[in-house]
Amino acid sequence: MAASPFDLTGKAALITGGNTGIGLAIARGLAEAGALVAIADRNADNAGSALASVAKACEANNSRAISLIADVTDTTAVVAMVDATLKDFGRIDILVNNAGISLSGPPEKMPLEDWQTVIDVNLTAPFVCAQAVHPAMKRQGGGKIINIASVLANLATGNAPNYAASKGGVLQLTRSLAIAWAPDNIQVNVILPGWIDTDLTKRAREARPELHDRILARVPAARWGTPEDLAGVAVFLASRASDFVTGAAHTVDGGFTAMG
Ligand code: NDP
Repeated sequence: MAASPFDLTGKAALITGGNTGIGLAIARGLAEAGALVAIADRNADNAGSALASVAKACEANNSRAISLIADVTDTTAVVAMVDATLKDFGRIDILVNNAGISLSGPPEKMPLEDWQTVIDVNLTAPFVCAQAVHPAMKRQGGGKIINIASVLANLATGNAPNYAASKGGVLQLTRSLAIAWAPDNIQVNVILPGWIDTDLTKRAREARPELHDRILARVPAARWGTPEDLAGVAVFLASRASDFVTGAAHTVDGGFTAMG
């Protein structure tokens, strides 16, 4: 029987911000599809439990997982993270630029530091990580880069100018890299999640208690997304099923954007 076009057996994946939320769910999804998986995060807080859950997902496929510590805003740490993945797995086929933060507030009151921190983590770091994996992917004859932006790459609120600008930048970064690296057989795509139940949005809901129901009323699917809702599209974008898909945005939002 021919292998599934979504089969990731023998492929090596690196996921930033992989210890929690969307990154962890994507890591498990890639592991279930057969990939070797490196999860990287900036601290070790959840590293043990995250590694255990990804390793469990690897079991069925005779695959394995490793855990790395790396702050993606530290270029030296990013290079070390990529080197460690290459050293352990011998290759790197899939990069998921997932690490992200939100520091919201109205533009007129936003400290420049909050602007810069969000741009550094959400926009500059994906560029630095992509640069760091490019030589290995090119040498190997191809690769897949999956950026995690947001529906706020296209939409906006008045309360998160730094976040919306960073995610809009990731969308354009995706298109730029896709064009530049198409000759290297590297496909670069972006996922635009809607409202997903994670620590990041828990913090937003604590700050604005009305947010939970307001979003619920506005999403045609009538629910908040779960991190697992992102896993399938990531497997698709990591696999040979998407070899002719590049520079494209993939919305996963229960219909939120379609509502207009
Ligand atoms: P979480 O806060 O649950 O997870 C983000 C992870 O990234 C955390 O483990 C965090 O570590 C890590 N991280 C943050 N900064 C860095 C850094 N400098 N270096 C390395 N790791 C870092 O968020 P989500 O799972 O919700 O978000 C994942 C991605 O999805 C983000 O890019 C986010 O913008 C995007 N997104 C999320 C949406 C949602 O509704 N949840 C909607 C649209 C997009 P730590 O715990 O130490 O902060």
